[in-house]
Amino acid sequence: MEETSARPGNFIRTIIDGDRKVGKNGGLVVTRFPPEPNGYLHIGHAKSICLNFGLARDYGGRCHLRFDDTNPAAEDVEYVDSIMDDVRWLGFDWGEHLYYASDYFERLYQWAEQLVLAGKAFVCELTPDEQRAYRGTLTEPGKNSPFRDRSVEENLDLLRRMRAGEFPDGAKVLRAKIGMASPNLNLRDPIMYRIKRFHHHRTGDRWCIYPMYDWAHGLSDAIEGITHSICTLEFEAHRPLYDWFIEQLPGVHHPQQVEFARLNLDYTVLSKRMLIELVTGKHVSGWDDPRMPTIAGFRRRGYTPESIRDFAERIGVAKADSVVDTGMLEACIREDLNTKAKRVACVHDPLRVVIENYPEGQTEEFEAPYFPDDPPKMGHRMLPFSRELWIEREDFMEAPPKGFYRLAPGKEVRLRFSYVIKCTGVIKDDAGKVVELRCTYDPETKNANPKDGRKIGGTIHWLSVAHAQKAEVRLFDRLFTVPAPAGDKERNFKEFLNPNSLVVLKDAYVEPSLSSIEPGARVQFERKGYYFVDPIDSKPGAPVFSRIVPLRDSWAKQSKGGK
Ligand code: ATP
Ligand code: MG
Repeated sequence: MEETSARPGNFIRTIIDGDRKVGKNGGLVVTRFPPEPNGYLHIGHAKSICLNFGLARDYGGRCHLRFDDTNPAAEDVEYVDSIMDDVRWLGFDWGEHLYYASDYFERLYQWAEQLVLAGKAFVCELTPDEQRAYRGTLTEPGKNSPFRDRSVEENLDLLRRMRAGEFPDGAKVLRAKIGMASPNLNLRDPIMYRIKRFHHHRTGDRWCIYPMYDWAHGLSDAIEGITHSICTLEFEAHRPLYDWFIEQLPGVHHPQQVEFARLNLDYTVLSKRMLIELVTGKHVSGWDDPRMPTIAGFRRRGYTPESIRDFAERIGVAKADSVVDTGMLEACIREDLNTKAKRVACVHDPLRVVIENYPEGQTEEFEAPYFPDDPPKMGHRMLPFSRELWIEREDFMEAPPKGFYRLAPGKEVRLRFSYVIKCTGVIKDDAGKVVELRCTYDPETKNANPKDGRKIGGTIHWLSVAHAQKAEVRLFDRLFTVPAPAGDKERNFKEFLNPNSLVVLKDAYVEPSLSSIEPGARVQFERKGYYFVDPIDSKPGAPVFSRIVPLRDSWAKQSKGGK
């Protein structure tokens, strides 16, 4: 992958620099990205991926991909596969360092026995309700479980029988013996194992007890020799527990946990639970619906991995929670495509224009550069011009307000790359809808050079009716209408779904050069935005264009106006 120079520093780099200076871990940097395979990855995960893989790359270390697959109830191989696809698509490679917490189940179990033997863990039979009652609150200490003082022999025997499947689900748990008075609730004799008969996608039915995330997570890092366990802030209060577990196991490597603020993005939700709800409730077409904030969704929408990596870099990492403007992500994709996507024409909502003084049956071609700011860069194509044209319906107004510089009765406009035309008549249907414009062209204005000295305000795009190709255009927009859809305690986030987040135009037209465009290509439709040739629904000769992002951020104005 390409290296970007001059990376901005951040507090994690400062910590790593300090560690390297004193020779900690022999100067080695080993990070990991540890998803639970219980959903598709979203843009928040992309931040974590870019951070972890980016640090490993910059410090000449390595980054592991580890599936924290300790909860078979919610996990699925579909998620495992999608996560690997997404990390690779983002441009990162774990090489041979692909791991599964489930591969450590035996080792974790042996360590659990070690804790039991050391009198640091016990088998508890309180019901979940009782455990909750015994746990205490933030302001009150908890109470010791009546099972806390079982002998080591009894605990060991019970734990082995738990593993052997002698007890029903939920009948017993193994708990760490730390202290019920700890001000940190995570340390109040937390559960290490529960009995749960679930088929695991990797270990099958070998286990009927499964480790809790807190028992497995930190120790998995330890097993892998992770030097810096980078995680989001909500795990800060779990750090003392991870540390405690490792301290009970002499000789085990001790990774250093560093917490950073998770990414929050406005106008969307990033909680897996909510994303699953959108998928199962069929509010979107799937995890890869182009409106989803998932990596699969962004990929289907036409975002580039470069733009997402750039976004991750720009938002940086911090210790304080904040909400990032979705406009910033959109700006990253615009910036990336600005120099990559050739500019072509598409009429979204066609209105017929007949040029009365242009000979019937005549065609001429105009040279139109793909990249007007730098014509030699991407070459050009020839745009056919004829007597009947499509223009954008919104580029005409019968009674225009002051400051409308496009077409109106008696007014002139430049047709990009061709001629100046003047509107001489308006034809309507019975309902009063404008169905056709009559115009004349000025042969003196060939190439519609904006520097021709004429006082004409606007330049619009157009297509020759006889040559244009019909195309489907999908206009995707933000999925929610409010900046914080999950932030309203009174209302369900789905009440804020944007009913116009997908508008399908079946009768759009594109220029003939696009009939053979490759699926997966990206273009700029001039004056409109950036579009992606949908790789799944496009057929040979029948491309489907998805709007990646409009040219301008129409939401920025809206949210400012709302204040
Ligand atoms: P959720 O809480 O939405 O269900 P999760 O955090 O439980 O997601 P994991 O699969 O555990 O999902 O996440 C894998 C890694 O990605 C973790 O290290 C986690 O800290 C990180 N991560 C998850 N969400 C974000 C986010 N919004 N911003 C940055 N990192 C994140
Ligand atoms: Mg998690």
